[in-house]
Amino acid sequence: MTTSDATVRKYDLLLKGGRVIDPANNIDGQFDVATSGGSIALVGKDISPALARTVADVSGLVVTPGLVDLHAHFYGYFGAILPDAHCLPEGTTTAVDAGGSGHLTFDDFNELVIAPATTNVFAMLNIAGEGMVGEPEQDLDGMDIELTAAKIAQRPDVIVGVKVAHYMGPGWEPLDRGIQAAEDTGVFLMVDQSPIHTRPMNEMILEHLRSGDMVTHCYAVSKPMTDMNDKVKPYFFEARERGVQFDVGHGGGSFSFRIAKAAIEQGFVPDTISTDMHRPSILSNQATMPETMTKLLALGMELPDIVKRSTWDPAQAIGHPELGNLGQTAPADIAVLNITEGDFGLVDNGTTQRVFKANKRIVCEMTVKNGRVVWDKNGRSRDDWSSTPPMNPLI
Ligand SMILES: [Zn+2]
Repeated sequence: MTTSDATVRKYDLLLKGGRVIDPANNIDGQFDVATSGGSIALVGKDISPALARTVADVSGLVVTPGLVDLHAHFYGYFGAILPDAHCLPEGTTTAVDAGGSGHLTFDDFNELVIAPATTNVFAMLNIAGEGMVGEPEQDLDGMDIELTAAKIAQRPDVIVGVKVAHYMGPGWEPLDRGIQAAEDTGVFLMVDQSPIHTRPMNEMILEHLRSGDMVTHCYAVSKPMTDMNDKVKPYFFEARERGVQFDVGHGGGSFSFRIAKAAIEQGFVPDTISTDMHRPSILSNQATMPETMTKLLALGMELPDIVKRSTWDPAQAIGHPELGNLGQTAPADIAVLNITEGDFGLVDNGTTQRVFKANKRIVCEMTVKNGRVVWDKNGRSRDDWSSTPPMNPLI
């Protein structure tokens, strides 16, 4: 419902009657959320609709901070997608490109994709100077610590980490160079390296990665966390003790229900929930934030915990604690989620390609970015069509 009397209306938007889950502020209950000037103005009980220019009834829905997707692909990678078209309809207001660009290509990425996007887009810089596609990730000569660190130091507002991925050679050079570039600039590193006999997983997570560094694709068949008996290998718990982080990075080949189910039952939940969103992963697995969250809900994680690991925790991981929460004066980035009930099939990938039956599916109902409604699946923020004024007779 929209109104036009601005004189007494100090709020731009009022989301009324939803279940607000804001883990950063320990909020989980029925509250109204009001925004003003692009920021969160108030989360409170029974805020009067008369105070807001636009009121949307979100009762029965879940209101969370805008989702923060720590692993997506908007540049470089062959399946790169446009952030606004794929993030905003899914409640994702902040997303991190995981290594599509390197120090040679970041400026192009920034100009073409990051700057024009409504979505907050951050970047992890690939240690390969050319970025992600094809041979550069195999070319050690193109992996320069100093040039990578210099580019990060030049754009700390946008570059939040270093990515090392897909190296097929025998040694640790790409990873160790990436870690050095991250160390020199005070950022974290995300790694996607499947183990081979010369580069075993236990050595990587116990000896190479630093506290705060992150293994993505944590439930992938290609880097199995569990053994033949579905037991989580002890060194994963040891690495977690050291502070190594484990990110979902669902993707098109990196999420196995068999591994994820066993791991979660044994207490190994992911530190952060992310999509590894790109064209193939969207088409084959609906690798969106709500669908990935749905899978973890089906595997027994609690909704507030899922929300925390999809908002506040990734915001902190990238060093942006102003995001991922609904605190007063925070940017008014909000997701309104519908926990639908029905007979659903959730699909996994990798070598398994199985379906997991579930009776709940999380669907994004509304997305608010900087106080503006940018996705409204059922027109909750709009007046009824019958209020459309008559056509201009002069045209
Ligand atoms: Zn990826």
